[in-house]
Amino acid sequence: MTLPTSELATASSVCDLTVVGGTGDLALRKLLPALYQSERRGNLAPGTRVIGGSRHDLDDAGYRAMVREAVHTHVPAHELDETVIERLLDRVRHVVVDADSPEGWDELHGVLKQAESDDVVRVFYLAVAPRLFGPICQRLDDIGVVEPTSRVVLEKPLGTDLASARRINDAVGQVFDEPQIFRIDHYLGKESVQNLLVTRFANTFLEPLWNSRWIDHVQITAAETLGVGERSGYYDTSGALRDMVQNHLLQLLCLVAMEPPTYVGRETVRDEKLKVLQALKPMSPEDVDRDTVRGSYAAGVVDGAEVPAYADELGRPSQTETFVALRAEVQNWRWAGVPFYLRTGKRMDRRTSEIVVVFKAPPHAMFPGSEGATEPNRLHIRVQPDEGMHLHMTVKEPGPGGIRLRPATLDLSYATAFDAVSPEAYERLLLDVLKGNPTLFMRRDEVEAAWAWVEPVLQRWSSLDERPDEYPAGSSGPAAAEALLERDGRTWQETDR
Ligand code: NAP
Repeated sequence: MTLPTSELATASSVCDLTVVGGTGDLALRKLLPALYQSERRGNLAPGTRVIGGSRHDLDDAGYRAMVREAVHTHVPAHELDETVIERLLDRVRHVVVDADSPEGWDELHGVLKQAESDDVVRVFYLAVAPRLFGPICQRLDDIGVVEPTSRVVLEKPLGTDLASARRINDAVGQVFDEPQIFRIDHYLGKESVQNLLVTRFANTFLEPLWNSRWIDHVQITAAETLGVGERSGYYDTSGALRDMVQNHLLQLLCLVAMEPPTYVGRETVRDEKLKVLQALKPMSPEDVDRDTVRGSYAAGVVDGAEVPAYADELGRPSQTETFVALRAEVQNWRWAGVPFYLRTGKRMDRRTSEIVVVFKAPPHAMFPGSEGATEPNRLHIRVQPDEGMHLHMTVKEPGPGGIRLRPATLDLSYATAFDAVSPEAYERLLLDVLKGNPTLFMRRDEVEAAWAWVEPVLQRWSSLDERPDEYPAGSSGPAAAEALLERDGRTWQETDR
């Protein structure tokens, strides 16, 4: 099949990348180090500029010093190269802008007008609180810098519920058309997540098994050892369902469950993901009570250190969950009757993001008298750390004297299988923005479909006026999360590496 070549952007355009919020944590810890890596690999087109925008009273030299320090702090020492840093800094400028005031925006207009040609693509990365997305887009429009080729990048959280997500999308949509809007979910920038598509659709052996006939259930876990720390004020207005499930976990679920698109193009993958979100079984209040678990970490020990409870970090009791486990169903021909168990939490016993596809047990036990049990096959797809996948199989233990069954693992670790180190998700996603490739970004209809599914859970929880179950920091979550699977005769598959 010949792919539509217009879909396959390969080179980054010459861009003026304006990062509003250029002095913030996200910009300094993730975006500028990612741009450094792109510079190091020769992936930034000559003439591309990076313009930081914030209310900080900084000139170009002051901002360059800040960027230099950020690169030194957040790029591994063995990857630092002063000539590359200088090349990056040559591209960097700063303008003082305030989303809440018209002051300063003319300066941005002036800087953008100095672009080396009329073909330069303007990219606006909004690394600020979502309440500022609408006002900033309006100011960009007011100063006349938004062109049909311009792009805007939005960071999560895209709203706190369906109505607020719609408001943000409406406000941004007044200035930018949908194809110009790039909504980041950094999980989609991870190698292993993209490899999931390749593994499913560029090989033939899995696809015939990838359905309710052969798959028993799917588990998706995103566990962190960190607590909320200094972000407790923000986090308490959000919680694990909004912060992780509505976006990252549902996106992973979509990639596991989606149908093969005709080809991998701008809209085709997103069309298929949307169909999965629309096929999720809506949760009634009874479903929420039965199929969801909320937790909040109590004091405990993580990595050998004593850590306080969430409520103590916050300074007051709270009903906000730092852990969620839930059971979802995709109501379509392929997945009917296959539960998808999702789980995420802070202050867990390990840091891991992983998808586990658990296959059905063999239909017939044909090794009577053999030592050892036949375990169902499991495909583990590790998103982080140590990206890769491994397949659990049952094999014969070598040697004479009868058949002894043993579990064994086919292992593909990216770090050992390939010399190249996986780029950070932000590096890949930023390059995709510069190339104008939206495949790995969330479309408005996806974001809103995800909120529509999550909303009944939020509503039910808020109507109950109950505190989440406590779990000790450094554990695998509340006991009710274990019971959620035990009820179905299953257990969580803990990472065994
Ligand atoms: P942050 O450290 O508080 O930085 C916010 C940035 O926005 C600063 O540069 C700040 O600079 C600027 N800013 C604030 N108010 C402004 C205004 N009225 N006009 C212009 N600039 C303004 O926040 P962050 O952690 O970088 O997060 C930014 C956004 O990304 C948030 O929505 C966050 O939820 C999201 N996010 C962050 C991360 C992360 O790892 N940090 C990850 C995913 C998503 P001045 O105060 O100098 O103006």
